[in-house]
Amino acid sequence: MDLGIAGKWALVCGASKGLGFGCAQALAHEGVHVLLVARGADALNAAVDSLRADPLRPAAVQVESVAADITTEAGRAAVFAQRRDFDIIVTNAGGPPPGDFRDWDREAWIKAVDANMLTPIELIKASVDGMAARGFGRIVNITSSSVKAPIDILGLSNGARSGLTGFVAGVARTARLASANVTINNLLPGKFDTDRIAVTFEAAAKRTGKTVEEVRKTQAGMIPAQRLGTREEFGAACAFLCSQQASYITGQNLLTDGGAYPGTY
Ligand code: NAD
Repeated sequence: MDLGIAGKWALVCGASKGLGFGCAQALAHEGVHVLLVARGADALNAAVDSLRADPLRPAAVQVESVAADITTEAGRAAVFAQRRDFDIIVTNAGGPPPGDFRDWDREAWIKAVDANMLTPIELIKASVDGMAARGFGRIVNITSSSVKAPIDILGLSNGARSGLTGFVAGVARTARLASANVTINNLLPGKFDTDRIAVTFEAAAKRTGKTVEEVRKTQAGMIPAQRLGTREEFGAACAFLCSQQASYITGQNLLTDGGAYPGTY
């Protein structure tokens, strides 16, 4: 299916690895120019090289990058200094650490809220009115299945991301944006095989005295698909939400979790 977005410009945050990279790659395959943001220059340069060398990337597709912390004002300013009018924005940053809520102080909470709630809101604020004026815009926020089915040790994530989810539910439904072909949706990963989940598995292994491999096997066995997801699968879902065909889908929370969420709704 031609997604009808070739030639658009996308900002993809947290894009040097994992799910962000999967989104950047899927968009590039669709002919979308991509600007990748991540903090570490080495991993970011490697990601850019790999996209430029990707045989499925149409030759006209430009790949740019900014090494910055997207959760800071300075980081966002650096991105918008390089390029301003994005058609597509994929918001993403590292998830907060797992732990026991008794150990989290105000600073830990502010850091989580900054990264996983306020940063996407700032990016939305900086871009949606321009998108509306141009008659096309797609925002996809990478959140987590923990928004629908909370995970006990990820309280910082459960809390901060729920705040973002509530905000998006309201703003996406404003006629000023929805009628101007600007959609805002959240993409909720279940368990995907990335560096991030490796950290979660290591924490669980420490807690339970099992090996990381045992934890991984047990966790995969609890998913109806009996495996972790791939970043390519996640990227494909993101690209569809960014497509022309998805213009009537807004304010939604799309789970991509191999059937793990146990509810009907
Ligand atoms: P990852 O650790 O594999 O990759 C994270 C990427 O974001 C890296 O490129 C990193 O450099 C970049 N990054 C982190 N903090 C940044 C910042 N402040 N500014 C700019 N770039 C930053 O993680 P992932 O598995 O791809 O997860 C992406 C998001 O999805 C995270 O928020 C994570 O908590 C969430 N999530 C992941 C899973 C999963 O199974 N992998 C499940 C639920 C939620």
